[in-house]
Amino acid sequence: MGKVLIIGAGGVGTVVVNKVAQNPDVFTEIMLASRTKSKCDAIAEDVKKRFGVEVKTAQVDADNVPELVTLLNAYKPELLINVALPYQDLTIMDACLEAGVNYLDTANYEPKDEAHFEYSWQWAYKDKFEKAGLTAILGCGFDPGVTSIYTAYAAKHHFDEIHYLDIVDCNAGDHHKAFATNFNPEINIREVSQRGKYWENGEWIETEPHEIHKSLNYPEIGPKESYVIYHEELESLVKNYPTIKRARFWMTFGQEYLTHLRVIQNIGMARIDEVEYNGQKIVPIQFLKAVLPNPGDLGENYTGWTSIGCRIKGIKDGKEVTYYVYNNCSHEAAYKETGAQGVSYTTGVPAMIGAMMFFKGEWRKAGVYNVEEFNPDPFMEQLNIHGLPWVELHNIDLEL
Ligand code: NDP
Repeated sequence: MGKVLIIGAGGVGTVVVNKVAQNPDVFTEIMLASRTKSKCDAIAEDVKKRFGVEVKTAQVDADNVPELVTLLNAYKPELLINVALPYQDLTIMDACLEAGVNYLDTANYEPKDEAHFEYSWQWAYKDKFEKAGLTAILGCGFDPGVTSIYTAYAAKHHFDEIHYLDIVDCNAGDHHKAFATNFNPEINIREVSQRGKYWENGEWIETEPHEIHKSLNYPEIGPKESYVIYHEELESLVKNYPTIKRARFWMTFGQEYLTHLRVIQNIGMARIDEVEYNGQKIVPIQFLKAVLPNPGDLGENYTGWTSIGCRIKGIKDGKEVTYYVYNNCSHEAAYKETGAQGVSYTTGVPAMIGAMMFFKGEWRKAGVYNVEEFNPDPFMEQLNIHGLPWVELHNIDLEL
């Protein structure tokens, strides 16, 4: 059915390649390209062994538009799945426009020199994609991604109006390292150390980092201290669901993790500006990435579960109702299937399903769209088939 190019050979890229390879009726030709070709070759070799599927590989610097365009013109994919870093979103979108290729990603654009992410940069491409007759699907991982689709599904089937949305993200896994991040350390540390922000009564309320927290119960896991942080899907969800009075994002952190994070920040290792070291310019957070465990290698000893979902309160047929939809994912099962841990798995599977939605024609319209703007039903069906089954609870105490 379709020819796909995946860019980024990290933890998430590993899962995407494993998943597209398991769906040969949809993905008929696969190429993986990244900065370091040897990583692409290793993934391709592993996938060949597991599933007997051929994956082509290539080297590309995704910061460089002409280099990307050359690759796209040579391979001619119909869809590009961007699982490199958020820094590359705009160069890859530019290259897609030039070469006439459709686009999907899992994280919104962020400039390298500013720890700040928002959709405005990518939404500004709407006209260009519309005029080119190309589809761009933004934020198709788990959060953003599945959490946004859960919200769309809730709005379609269970609510006339959504009033309160709390996205709850718990990683109750143990990688048996003193400190490690579950995805790219630079992006992860920038995200979790920023000021908190949530939506209430038509405006954004800012907080100190990790200022608001409470213990929440996660299914099959139990109570975990959860912290309000800003997360990118809040921006598009409050725009697309204007009845929302309050939208927050909660993430669990252990005390050990927060202590390490505080030390990293206090000693300047989270800095994103250049410093002079031995006559060389280095960016401390990039140096830190080089010495921290590689998130892609955490899988082997990872035990426990992730639990991510949406807790929603609103109105249906004139009555107040509550709804909780979530997925629990086992790190061990994810590793067994794909060689990657649960956080990479919960991101890579939705990216594959989003690509499948595109190739099946379910999610195909010219322009730039967040995932909640498409029909959630066929996507929700595929989550149950491809390893991220969901559970619904109605009219329970949401604890929020
Ligand atoms: P990794 O750091 O493990 O992998 C990133 C990959 O991109 C690496 O292979 C890296 O190459 C490659 N890359 C980086 N810069 C370039 C470049 N200029 N040109 C070509 N390739 C490049 O990250 P993850 O796999 O953990 O995360 C991938 C993406 O997924 C990130 O954008 C992250 O924000 C997003 N994500 C989304 C989530 C969601 O739920 N929506 C959750 C988790 C992650 P090299 O190997 O040479 O370093």
